[in-house]
Amino acid sequence: MKYKVNDIITLKKGHPCGENKWKILRTGVDIKLQCLGCDKIVWLNRLEFNKRIRKIQDKDGKFVSIVHYEPQDEE
Ligand SMILES: [Zn+2]
Repeated sequence: MKYKVNDIITLKKGHPCGENKWKILRTGVDIKLQCLGCDKIVWLNRLEFNKRIRKIQDKDGKFVSIVHYEPQDEE
């Protein structure tokens, strides 16, 4: 799994509020996400999440494609 709690990600489709940045609050069988625009919480099962995730914010603050994302090992 490339992503972890507190990562900021974007989905293929943004939230109806106009924002398309989500913070991961919980991982597991179901992924808990919070919209950074309106703070709404949504749950996606992992299969659905893996289909919908598009980009993830790296340690430099840039959004990179999840396909190319390589997480840094934290000390
Ligand atoms: Zn929203």
